[in-house]
Amino acid sequence: MVIFFTFRNFYRSNGSFRLKPAEKLSSVFQQAGWDFYLWRVKKEENQYFPWGTKERYNDFRPVFQALFPGKKIQKLSVNAAFTCPNRDGSKGRGGCTYCNNASFTPDFSGGNNSVTSQLEKGVRFFAGKYPEMLYLAFFQSFSNTYAPLNHLKSLYEEALRFPGVQGLVVSTRPDCLSTEILDYLSHLAERGYLMLELGVESHLDETLRNLNRGHTFAEAENAIREAAARGIAVTAHMMLGLPGEGRKEWMEQAEVISQLPVNNLKLHQLQIHRHTVMARQYAEHPESFRLFTEEEYAATVVDYLERLHPRITIERFTSQAPPGLLVAPAWGVKNYVFTARIKRLLEERDTWQGRINLEF
Ligand code: SF4
Repeated sequence: MVIFFTFRNFYRSNGSFRLKPAEKLSSVFQQAGWDFYLWRVKKEENQYFPWGTKERYNDFRPVFQALFPGKKIQKLSVNAAFTCPNRDGSKGRGGCTYCNNASFTPDFSGGNNSVTSQLEKGVRFFAGKYPEMLYLAFFQSFSNTYAPLNHLKSLYEEALRFPGVQGLVVSTRPDCLSTEILDYLSHLAERGYLMLELGVESHLDETLRNLNRGHTFAEAENAIREAAARGIAVTAHMMLGLPGEGRKEWMEQAEVISQLPVNNLKLHQLQIHRHTVMARQYAEHPESFRLFTEEEYAATVVDYLERLHPRITIERFTSQAPPGLLVAPAWGVKNYVFTARIKRLLEERDTWQGRINLEF
C-alpha cells in the first residue's frame, strides 16, 4: 500500500514532483548529510531503503505491480509503421548509427498489420499460458509520436479499445513531441496507465552528433520537463559504453539524469548490431571501441547507481540482442541473471542507489 501511494504521488503528480515520504525525511537530516540519513534508514528502520523495499536499488517492478494489484500484466509490442526524422531525410538519413530496429521488434508485431491484429497475435502468444493476463500496448518500433496528432489518436485509441489493454507505453524521440501531442498524452495519462519512453542515450551533444541522433541533449531535457509538467511519467533510455565516453562521462551522466524529472530508467550496454553503420565502423576501426566485459559493465552500473537519485526507478540494466543480430559483445547473459549479479555486487560493496551523491 505504501508503495502504491508512493507511486501514485510520484507518477501522477500532475507535473510537480511531490517528494516521497522518505525524501521529506531526508530534508530533516539534510545538514547531517545524505549518507547519515541513509545510514539511519538502513540501520534503524529494519534495512528498508528510502524507496520502501529491502532491495539496494529502486526496482521498477514492485512499483509497477502495485498499480495492478494481483494482476499479471504483459506488454504487447506494436509496430505502427512509423519512421524517424533522422531516417526519412527531415533531419538526416540512415538513422542512429547503432540502430537495427529488428533487434528490439518481436516477431508477432508487424508494420503491415493493423494495431488490432498485432494485439490479437500478441494475446494468442501469451494467453495460452495465462488466460487472466492483462496487457499494455507497447508502441515500440521507431519513433511512435512522429506523425500528425489525428493519426496518433486513431492508433492509440484503437489499442485502448482492445479487450484487456490497460494502457500504453509509447517509445519515441525527444524531438518528436509537439505541444499538442504532449497535451494529448497528458489527457491519456489521466485516463489510465501511460509511460512515455524517451531515447536520450547520452547527455553529451558530441556523442549524440556522432551517433547521428539528430537532436541535442537540451531537446531531451526540454521534452522530459514538458512531459513531467503535464503529469506524464517518463522513462529515459541511456546507453553506457558509447564511443568517446568513459567512466568520467558515465558518472557525470548519472548526476545529470538525477537532476531531471525522470521517473524510470532503462540502462543498457553498447551492443553492436549487424547491418548498422556502427557495425561497419567497428569492422574498420575496432580500436575506437572499448566494449564492456560483463564484469566491467556490472561494476560500472553499481558506480552509476551510487550516483543516481533514489526517486528514479530502474526497469533494466542490460539488453541482449538476438544472437543472429549481434556482432559484439556476446555475453549470452539473461537480464534476470545480470540483475542478480548487480544485487550481489551491491551487497558485497555494502552500497545502494544514491549513496554517493550528497546533492539530493
Ligand atoms: S530514433 Fe530510435 S528507431 Fe529511430 S533510428 Fe534512432 S534508435 Fe532507431
